[in-house]
Amino acid sequence: MGAFDDLLAANEEFSATFTDSELTGRAARGLAVVTCMDSRIDPLGLFGLKAGDAKILRNAGARVTDDVLRTLVLAVYLLGVNRVLVMPHTDCGMSKATDDDVHRLAAEHGVDTRSLEFHTVPDQSAALLHDLTRIRTSPFLPAGLPIGGAVYDVRTGKITPIEV
Ligand SMILES: [Zn+2]
Repeated sequence: MGAFDDLLAANEEFSATFTDSELTGRAARGLAVVTCMDSRIDPLGLFGLKAGDAKILRNAGARVTDDVLRTLVLAVYLLGVNRVLVMPHTDCGMSKATDDDVHRLAAEHGVDTRSLEFHTVPDQSAALLHDLTRIRTSPFLPAGLPIGGAVYDVRTGKITPIEV
């Protein structure tokens, strides 16, 4: 039994009825969403989107890292993105732990992670403001690109737009 056998079996079924072969890599709805890796978030489903509609950028905490910026620049100039929504969520693990907590947990496994920055989130509003500002002030993105912020509630499925 391989670690991925269940997935391979499920994909046999999926590919048997696959109908998206005409899609291109451009975002049909012009949207990029930066959100968390949290497994409760269905970023396409919660907006009524489908494959082909949007670029979904996910990491721990929905943080705007250097690599998220790099990806947004490519998404805008190559892949049809013309609006960006940054969407952290309630009950995020990244707001419950500090970088030091993670270093300590890793140390219990004999692993030294102190050279990594985890971008944990002690204050979600402040982090979102910081991350939105980081996109807005990027010299590599066009002026006037709509940038929005919203928080997804994992208990209700609702998003609350954040005005900053
Ligand atoms: Zn999260």
